[in-house]
Amino acid sequence: MEVKKEKSMILQKEMVGKLFKDLSTAKERGQKVVYTFIPGNLSELIRSFGMLPLYPEINALQSGMRKKSGQYIREAEKYGHSEDVCTYVKCDVGMMLNGNIGPTGEKLPEPDLLLLCYTGCFTFLKWFENLERLYPGVPVALLHTPYQERGMITKEMREYMVKQLKKEVIPKMEKVSGQKFDEERLKKMLRHSAEAEDCIVKIFDTPTHKPSPIDAYFAGVYYIGPINIGFRGTPQAIDYYKELYKEIQHRIAKGLGPITPEGEMKEENFRLVVEGPPNWTHFRQFWKLFYDMGAVIVASSYTKVGGVYDMGFRHDPDRPLESLSEYCMNCYTNLNLPQRIDLLGSCIKKYQADGFLVNSIKSCNSFSAGQLLIMRQLEEELEIPVGFIESDLVDPRYFSYSNIKNRLESFFQMLHQRKMIKAHEEVVNY
Ligand code: SF4
Repeated sequence: MEVKKEKSMILQKEMVGKLFKDLSTAKERGQKVVYTFIPGNLSELIRSFGMLPLYPEINALQSGMRKKSGQYIREAEKYGHSEDVCTYVKCDVGMMLNGNIGPTGEKLPEPDLLLLCYTGCFTFLKWFENLERLYPGVPVALLHTPYQERGMITKEMREYMVKQLKKEVIPKMEKVSGQKFDEERLKKMLRHSAEAEDCIVKIFDTPTHKPSPIDAYFAGVYYIGPINIGFRGTPQAIDYYKELYKEIQHRIAKGLGPITPEGEMKEENFRLVVEGPPNWTHFRQFWKLFYDMGAVIVASSYTKVGGVYDMGFRHDPDRPLESLSEYCMNCYTNLNLPQRIDLLGSCIKKYQADGFLVNSIKSCNSFSAGQLLIMRQLEEELEIPVGFIESDLVDPRYFSYSNIKNRLESFFQMLHQRKMIKAHEEVVNY
Protein backbone atom coordinates (compact mmCIF):
# COMPACT_ATOMS: atom_id res chain seq x y z
CA MET A 1 0.00 0.00 0.00
CA GLU A 2 1.21 3.49 -0.88
CA VAL A 3 1.88 5.53 2.29
CA LYS A 4 -0.10 8.77 2.35
CA LYS A 5 2.43 11.63 2.29
CA GLU A 6 1.74 14.73 4.36
CA LYS A 7 3.59 17.96 3.58
CA SER A 8 5.80 17.52 6.68
CA MET A 9 6.92 14.10 5.42
CA ILE A 10 7.95 15.63 2.11
CA LEU A 11 9.76 18.44 3.92
CA GLN A 12 11.67 15.93 6.05
CA LYS A 13 12.62 13.83 3.03
CA GLU A 14 14.01 16.92 1.31
CA MET A 15 15.97 17.93 4.42
CA VAL A 16 17.52 14.49 4.82
CA GLY A 17 18.31 14.25 1.10
CA LYS A 18 20.00 17.66 1.11
CA LEU A 19 22.01 16.86 4.24
CA PHE A 20 23.42 13.65 2.77
CA LYS A 21 24.10 15.41 -0.54
CA ASP A 22 25.99 18.12 1.37
CA LEU A 23 27.89 15.44 3.26
CA SER A 24 28.85 13.63 0.08
CA THR A 25 30.26 16.84 -1.42
CA ALA A 26 31.74 18.23 1.82
CA LYS A 27 35.35 17.36 0.98
CA GLU A 28 35.32 18.97 -2.46
CA ARG A 29 33.64 22.08 -1.02
CA GLY A 30 36.15 22.21 1.84
CA GLN A 31 33.51 21.80 4.56
CA LYS A 32 34.64 19.91 7.63
CA VAL A 33 32.71 16.95 9.02
CA VAL A 34 32.33 15.92 12.65
CA TYR A 35 31.30 12.38 13.60
CA THR A 36 29.36 12.45 16.86
CA PHE A 37 26.48 10.78 18.76
CA ILE A 38 22.80 11.62 19.17
CA PRO A 39 22.40 11.57 22.97
CA GLY A 40 24.03 14.77 24.14
CA ASN A 41 24.85 15.97 20.64
CA LEU A 42 26.28 19.46 20.17
CA SER A 43 24.65 20.13 16.83
CA GLU A 44 24.52 23.91 17.25
CA LEU A 45 28.14 24.19 18.36
CA ILE A 46 29.31 22.12 15.37
CA ARG A 47 27.27 24.17 12.93
CA SER A 48 28.42 27.43 14.52
CA PHE A 49 31.89 26.55 13.18
CA GLY A 50 30.45 25.93 9.70
CA MET A 51 30.97 22.18 10.06
CA LEU A 52 28.49 19.36 9.43
CA PRO A 53 27.59 16.69 12.00
CA LEU A 54 27.34 13.04 11.00
CA TYR A 55 25.79 10.46 13.31
CA PRO A 56 26.89 6.81 13.08
CA GLU A 57 23.68 5.66 14.82
CA ILE A 58 21.58 7.25 12.07
CA ASN A 59 23.61 5.46 9.39
CA ALA A 60 23.19 2.19 11.27
CA LEU A 61 19.44 2.48 11.74
CA GLN A 62 18.95 3.58 8.14
CA SER A 63 21.02 0.60 6.99
CA GLY A 64 18.76 -1.59 9.14
CA MET A 65 15.62 -0.18 7.52
CA ARG A 66 17.14 -0.71 4.07
CA LYS A 67 18.03 -4.36 4.86
CA LYS A 68 21.75 -3.77 4.56
CA SER A 69 22.74 -4.10 8.20
CA GLY A 70 22.83 -7.94 8.28
CA GLN A 71 25.67 -8.03 5.78
CA TYR A 72 27.56 -5.20 7.52
CA ILE A 73 27.26 -6.94 10.89
CA ARG A 74 28.64 -10.17 9.44
CA GLU A 75 31.57 -8.22 7.95
CA ALA A 76 32.33 -6.66 11.35
CA GLU A 77 32.14 -10.07 13.05
CA LYS A 78 34.62 -11.45 10.49
CA TYR A 79 36.81 -8.49 11.36
CA GLY A 80 36.82 -9.62 15.00
CA HIS A 81 33.81 -8.06 16.76
CA SER A 82 32.01 -10.52 19.01
CA GLU A 83 28.33 -11.43 18.78
CA ASP A 84 27.52 -9.47 21.93
CA VAL A 85 28.87 -6.13 20.76
CA CYS A 86 26.22 -3.43 20.18
CA THR A 87 24.94 -3.99 16.64
CA TYR A 88 24.96 -0.25 15.86
CA VAL A 89 28.74 -0.39 16.28
CA LYS A 90 29.12 -3.49 14.11
CA CYS A 91 26.83 -2.10 11.43
CA ASP A 92 28.85 1.12 11.35
CA VAL A 93 32.20 -0.68 11.19
CA GLY A 94 30.86 -3.04 8.49
CA MET A 95 29.58 -0.08 6.45
CA MET A 96 32.97 1.57 6.69
CA LEU A 97 34.75 -1.62 5.60
CA ASN A 98 32.39 -1.72 2.61
CA GLY A 99 33.34 1.69 1.27
CA ASN A 100 31.28 3.87 3.67
CA ILE A 101 28.33 4.22 1.33
CA GLY A 102 25.62 6.02 3.27
CA PRO A 103 21.89 5.31 3.44
CA THR A 104 21.08 7.44 0.39
CA GLY A 105 23.63 5.55 -1.73
CA GLU A 106 26.18 8.35 -1.65
CA LYS A 107 29.63 7.96 -0.22
CA LEU A 108 30.02 9.44 3.24
CA PRO A 109 33.01 11.66 3.93
CA GLU A 110 35.71 10.63 6.35
CA PRO A 111 35.63 12.54 9.65
CA ASP A 112 37.76 15.62 10.28
CA LEU A 113 36.95 15.39 13.99
CA LEU A 114 35.57 12.65 16.22
CA LEU A 115 33.47 14.37 18.89
CA LEU A 116 32.89 11.89 21.66
CA CYS A 117 30.19 13.58 23.73
CA TYR A 118 28.71 10.38 25.06
CA THR A 119 25.92 10.31 27.62
CA GLY A 120 25.06 7.33 29.75
CA CYS A 121 26.47 4.60 27.51
CA PHE A 122 30.02 3.31 27.84
CA THR A 123 29.81 1.64 24.41
CA PHE A 124 30.19 5.07 22.81
CA LEU A 125 33.74 5.25 24.17
CA LYS A 126 34.66 1.86 22.72
CA TRP A 127 32.93 2.72 19.44
CA PHE A 128 35.11 5.78 18.90
CA GLU A 129 38.21 3.91 20.02
CA ASN A 130 37.52 1.69 17.01
CA LEU A 131 36.91 4.62 14.70
CA GLU A 132 40.10 6.25 15.91
CA ARG A 133 41.97 3.15 14.74
CA LEU A 134 40.07 3.05 11.44
CA TYR A 135 40.72 6.76 10.77
CA PRO A 136 44.29 7.22 11.99
CA GLY A 137 45.35 10.79 12.59
CA VAL A 138 41.82 12.20 13.00
CA PRO A 139 41.65 14.21 16.25
CA VAL A 140 39.26 13.13 19.01
CA ALA A 141 37.55 15.64 21.32
CA LEU A 142 36.19 14.05 24.47
CA LEU A 143 33.32 15.59 26.40
CA HIS A 144 32.69 13.52 29.48
CA THR A 145 29.12 13.86 30.71
CA PRO A 146 28.64 13.03 34.40
CA TYR A 147 25.83 10.54 35.00
CA GLN A 148 22.88 11.83 37.07
CA GLU A 149 23.64 9.32 39.78
CA ARG A 150 21.78 11.27 42.46
CA GLY A 151 19.00 12.33 40.12
CA MET A 152 20.11 15.92 39.89
CA ILE A 153 22.53 18.27 38.17
CA THR A 154 24.81 20.01 40.60
CA LYS A 155 26.72 23.28 40.16
CA GLU A 156 29.99 21.29 40.09
CA MET A 157 28.73 18.99 37.33
CA ARG A 158 27.75 22.00 35.23
CA GLU A 159 31.10 23.72 35.80
CA TYR A 160 32.96 20.53 34.94
CA MET A 161 31.14 20.33 31.60
CA VAL A 162 31.62 24.00 30.74
CA LYS A 163 35.32 23.71 31.52
CA GLN A 164 35.66 20.78 29.12
CA LEU A 165 33.81 22.71 26.43
CA LYS A 166 36.15 25.67 26.85
CA LYS A 167 39.41 23.76 27.22
CA GLU A 168 38.91 20.65 25.09
CA VAL A 169 36.02 20.83 22.64
CA ILE A 170 36.03 24.43 21.40
CA PRO A 171 39.83 24.65 20.88
CA LYS A 172 39.77 21.42 18.84
CA MET A 173 36.84 22.70 16.78
CA GLU A 174 38.67 25.98 16.17
CA LYS A 175 41.73 24.10 15.00
CA VAL A 176 39.87 21.71 12.70
CA SER A 177 37.52 24.32 11.21
CA GLY A 178 40.07 27.13 11.04
CA GLN A 179 37.41 29.47 12.51
CA LYS A 180 37.29 31.33 15.83
CA PHE A 181 34.47 30.50 18.23
CA ASP A 182 31.61 32.90 17.51
CA GLU A 183 29.37 33.12 20.57
CA GLU A 184 26.78 35.33 18.87
CA ARG A 185 26.35 32.80 16.09
CA LEU A 186 25.89 30.03 18.64
CA LYS A 187 23.32 32.09 20.58
CA LYS A 188 21.28 32.65 17.44
CA MET A 189 21.23 28.92 16.79
CA LEU A 190 20.21 28.14 20.36
CA ARG A 191 17.29 30.54 19.94
CA HIS A 192 16.18 28.47 16.95
CA SER A 193 16.65 25.27 18.96
CA ALA A 194 14.41 26.50 21.77
CA GLU A 195 11.69 27.46 19.29
CA ALA A 196 11.77 24.02 17.67
CA GLU A 197 11.78 22.37 21.11
CA ASP A 198 8.63 24.30 22.14
CA CYS A 199 6.93 22.90 19.10
CA ILE A 200 8.17 19.34 19.72
CA VAL A 201 6.75 19.40 23.24
CA LYS A 202 3.36 20.49 21.91
CA ILE A 203 3.46 17.70 19.29
CA PHE A 204 4.31 14.93 21.77
CA ASP A 205 1.62 16.24 24.10
CA THR A 206 -1.20 15.71 21.60
CA PRO A 207 -1.89 12.13 22.80
CA THR A 208 -3.84 13.74 25.65
CA HIS A 209 -6.58 13.69 23.00
CA LYS A 210 -8.68 10.61 22.40
CA PRO A 211 -8.15 9.15 19.92
CA SER A 212 -4.51 10.07 19.92
CA PRO A 213 -3.74 11.88 16.63
CA ILE A 214 -0.16 10.52 16.62
CA ASP A 215 1.76 7.37 17.37
CA ALA A 216 4.50 8.61 19.66
CA TYR A 217 6.83 5.66 19.00
CA PHE A 218 6.64 4.43 15.42
CA ALA A 219 5.77 7.82 13.93
CA GLY A 220 7.58 9.52 16.82
CA VAL A 221 10.95 8.29 15.58
CA TYR A 222 10.32 10.15 12.33
CA TYR A 223 9.19 13.26 14.20
CA ILE A 224 12.42 13.50 16.16
CA GLY A 225 14.44 12.84 12.99
CA PRO A 226 15.22 16.46 12.02
CA ILE A 227 16.57 17.49 15.43
CA ASN A 228 18.44 14.23 15.87
CA ILE A 229 20.24 14.21 12.54
CA GLY A 230 21.71 17.67 12.85
CA PHE A 231 19.01 20.25 12.10
CA ARG A 232 18.58 21.43 15.67
CA GLY A 233 19.44 25.12 15.68
CA THR A 234 18.38 25.73 12.08
CA PRO A 235 15.30 27.60 10.75
CA GLN A 236 14.45 24.52 8.63
CA ALA A 237 13.77 22.52 11.80
CA ILE A 238 11.35 25.20 13.02
CA ASP A 239 9.50 25.18 9.68
CA TYR A 240 9.26 21.41 9.76
CA TYR A 241 7.85 21.25 13.31
CA LYS A 242 5.37 24.08 12.69
CA GLU A 243 4.07 22.29 9.63
CA LEU A 244 3.85 18.98 11.48
CA TYR A 245 2.00 20.59 14.40
CA LYS A 246 -0.46 22.21 11.99
CA GLU A 247 -1.20 18.84 10.38
CA ILE A 248 -1.73 17.21 13.78
CA GLN A 249 -4.10 20.01 14.82
CA HIS A 250 -6.07 19.29 11.70
CA ARG A 251 -6.29 15.63 12.68
CA ILE A 252 -7.44 16.52 16.20
CA ALA A 253 -10.18 18.79 14.82
CA LYS A 254 -11.45 15.90 12.70
CA GLY A 255 -11.14 13.32 15.50
CA LEU A 256 -8.65 11.25 13.47
CA GLY A 257 -6.16 8.69 14.75
CA PRO A 258 -2.52 8.35 13.63
CA ILE A 259 -1.34 7.85 10.07
CA THR A 260 0.44 4.52 9.67
CA PRO A 261 2.03 2.79 6.65
CA GLU A 262 -1.11 0.61 6.55
CA GLY A 263 -3.35 3.65 6.36
CA GLU A 264 -5.18 5.65 8.97
CA MET A 265 -5.69 3.98 12.33
CA LYS A 266 -9.49 3.71 12.42
CA GLU A 267 -10.06 2.46 15.92
CA GLU A 268 -8.03 3.05 19.05
CA ASN A 269 -8.37 -0.09 21.18
CA PHE A 270 -5.33 0.24 23.40
CA ARG A 271 -3.09 3.08 24.50
CA LEU A 272 0.46 2.10 25.42
CA VAL A 273 3.67 3.59 26.78
CA VAL A 274 6.78 1.87 25.40
CA GLU A 275 10.30 1.67 26.80
CA GLY A 276 13.27 0.77 24.59
CA PRO A 277 14.26 1.42 20.99
CA PRO A 278 12.30 -0.10 18.12
CA ASN A 279 13.57 -2.84 15.83
CA TRP A 280 14.72 -1.30 12.56
CA THR A 281 15.20 -4.33 10.31
CA HIS A 282 11.49 -5.23 10.39
CA PHE A 283 10.16 -1.80 11.30
CA ARG A 284 7.01 -1.86 9.17
CA GLN A 285 6.13 -5.45 10.12
CA PHE A 286 6.71 -4.56 13.78
CA TRP A 287 4.46 -1.48 13.57
CA LYS A 288 1.76 -3.52 11.78
CA LEU A 289 1.53 -5.90 14.74
CA PHE A 290 0.30 -2.95 16.81
CA TYR A 291 -1.81 -1.49 14.02
CA ASP A 292 -3.67 -4.81 13.59
CA MET A 293 -4.62 -4.73 17.28
CA GLY A 294 -5.65 -1.06 17.27
CA ALA A 295 -2.78 -0.29 19.67
CA VAL A 296 -1.45 3.26 19.69
CA ILE A 297 1.74 4.27 21.46
CA VAL A 298 0.96 7.47 23.35
CA ALA A 299 4.50 7.98 24.73
CA SER A 300 7.90 6.31 24.44
CA SER A 301 11.26 6.72 26.09
CA TYR A 302 13.12 6.28 22.82
CA THR A 303 11.92 9.59 21.41
CA LYS A 304 13.61 11.22 24.41
CA VAL A 305 17.15 9.88 23.91
CA GLY A 306 18.11 13.01 22.01
CA GLY A 307 16.65 15.31 24.68
CA VAL A 308 13.94 15.30 27.35
CA TYR A 309 12.29 18.58 26.39
CA ASP A 310 8.91 17.73 27.93
CA MET A 311 10.48 17.93 31.40
CA GLY A 312 11.13 21.61 30.80
CA PHE A 313 14.65 21.74 29.36
CA ARG A 314 15.24 24.31 26.61
CA HIS A 315 18.48 25.47 25.04
CA ASP A 316 19.09 28.93 26.43
CA PRO A 317 20.80 31.55 24.23
CA ASP A 318 21.59 33.65 27.29
CA ARG A 319 23.67 30.84 28.85
CA PRO A 320 25.05 29.09 25.78
CA LEU A 321 27.72 26.76 27.20
CA GLU A 322 25.86 26.12 30.46
CA SER A 323 22.74 25.18 28.59
CA LEU A 324 24.61 22.87 26.18
CA SER A 325 26.06 21.17 29.26
CA GLU A 326 22.64 20.82 30.89
CA TYR A 327 21.26 19.44 27.65
CA CYS A 328 23.87 16.65 27.62
CA MET A 329 23.26 15.77 31.25
CA ASN A 330 19.49 15.75 30.79
CA CYS A 331 19.28 13.14 28.03
CA TYR A 332 17.19 10.08 28.82
CA THR A 333 20.18 7.70 28.77
CA ASN A 334 21.90 9.90 31.36
CA LEU A 335 19.02 9.74 33.86
CA ASN A 336 19.20 7.30 36.75
CA LEU A 337 16.64 4.51 37.12
CA PRO A 338 14.30 6.28 39.59
CA GLN A 339 14.20 9.30 37.25
CA ARG A 340 13.35 7.06 34.28
CA ILE A 341 10.61 5.35 36.31
CA ASP A 342 9.15 8.73 37.33
CA LEU A 343 9.23 9.95 33.74
CA LEU A 344 7.55 6.83 32.36
CA GLY A 345 5.03 6.80 35.22
CA SER A 346 4.05 10.40 34.55
CA CYS A 347 3.54 9.57 30.85
CA ILE A 348 1.33 6.58 31.76
CA LYS A 349 -0.84 8.82 33.95
CA LYS A 350 -0.91 11.88 31.72
CA TYR A 351 -1.77 10.01 28.51
CA GLN A 352 -4.06 7.52 30.26
CA ALA A 353 -2.24 4.45 28.99
CA ASP A 354 -3.86 1.02 29.28
CA GLY A 355 -0.53 -0.79 29.37
CA PHE A 356 3.25 -0.50 29.57
CA LEU A 357 5.49 -2.45 27.20
CA VAL A 358 9.25 -3.02 27.14
CA ASN A 359 11.05 -3.85 23.91
CA SER A 360 14.34 -5.11 25.24
CA ILE A 361 17.26 -4.88 22.83
CA LYS A 362 19.61 -7.83 22.91
CA SER A 363 22.80 -5.94 22.20
CA CYS A 364 22.02 -2.61 23.90
CA ASN A 365 23.22 -2.96 27.46
CA SER A 366 22.67 0.68 28.18
CA PHE A 367 18.95 0.62 27.53
CA SER A 368 18.27 -2.94 28.67
CA ALA A 369 19.89 -2.67 32.10
CA GLY A 370 17.17 -2.08 34.67
CA GLN A 371 14.22 -2.59 32.34
CA LEU A 372 12.78 -5.44 34.42
CA LEU A 373 13.03 -3.28 37.52
CA ILE A 374 11.33 -0.38 35.72
CA MET A 375 8.57 -2.72 34.58
CA ARG A 376 7.93 -4.31 37.97
CA GLN A 377 7.94 -0.98 39.78
CA LEU A 378 5.46 0.61 37.38
CA GLU A 379 3.25 -2.47 37.58
CA GLU A 380 3.24 -2.30 41.36
CA GLU A 381 2.85 1.45 41.76
CA LEU A 382 0.30 2.10 39.03
CA GLU A 383 -1.37 -1.33 38.84
CA ILE A 384 -0.94 -1.26 35.12
CA PRO A 385 -0.62 -4.38 32.91
CA VAL A 386 2.95 -4.76 31.66
CA GLY A 387 4.45 -6.69 28.75
CA PHE A 388 7.96 -7.65 27.68
CA ILE A 389 9.25 -8.48 24.19
CA GLU A 390 12.78 -8.87 22.87
CA SER A 391 14.38 -7.98 19.56
CA ASP A 392 17.45 -6.17 18.30
CA LEU A 393 18.17 -2.82 16.71
CA VAL A 394 19.73 -3.75 13.38
CA ASP A 395 20.64 -7.44 13.55
CA PRO A 396 17.93 -9.25 11.56
CA ARG A 397 18.91 -12.57 13.19
CA TYR A 398 17.28 -11.40 16.42
CA PHE A 399 13.85 -10.49 15.16
CA SER A 400 11.53 -13.44 15.62
CA TYR A 401 8.17 -12.45 14.20
CA SER A 402 6.21 -15.39 15.64
CA ASN A 403 7.75 -15.03 19.06
CA ILE A 404 6.95 -11.32 19.28
CA LYS A 405 3.47 -11.84 17.84
CA ASN A 406 2.65 -14.54 20.43
CA ARG A 407 3.82 -12.39 23.31
CA LEU A 408 1.96 -9.34 22.04
CA GLU A 409 -1.23 -11.32 21.57
CA SER A 410 -1.10 -12.50 25.19
CA PHE A 411 -0.39 -8.94 26.30
CA PHE A 412 -3.32 -7.52 24.33
CA GLN A 413 -5.58 -10.26 25.67
CA MET A 414 -4.63 -9.24 29.19
CA LEU A 415 -5.32 -5.57 28.36
CA HIS A 416 -8.68 -6.51 26.90
CA GLN A 417 -9.66 -8.46 30.02
CA ARG A 418 -8.64 -5.57 32.26
CA LYS A 419 -10.78 -3.23 30.20
CA MET A 420 -13.77 -5.54 30.44
CA ILE A 421 -13.40 -5.85 34.22
CA LYS A 422 -13.08 -2.08 34.56
CA ALA A 423 -16.16 -1.47 32.42
CA HIS A 424 -18.09 -4.03 34.47
CA GLU A 425 -17.05 -2.38 37.73
CA GLU A 426 -18.15 1.02 36.43
CA VAL A 427 -21.62 -0.34 35.59
CA VAL A 428 -21.93 -1.99 39.02
CA ASN A 429 -20.85 1.17 40.84
CA TYR A 430 -23.14 3.41 38.81
S1 SF4 B 1 24.67 0.03 23.56
FE1 SF4 B 1 22.68 1.02 23.17
S2 SF4 B 1 22.87 3.16 23.88
FE2 SF4 B 1 24.94 2.27 23.68
S3 SF4 B 1 25.60 2.79 21.62
FE3 SF4 B 1 24.68 0.78 21.44
S4 SF4 B 1 22.52 1.20 20.94
FE4 SF4 B 1 23.40 3.14 21.69
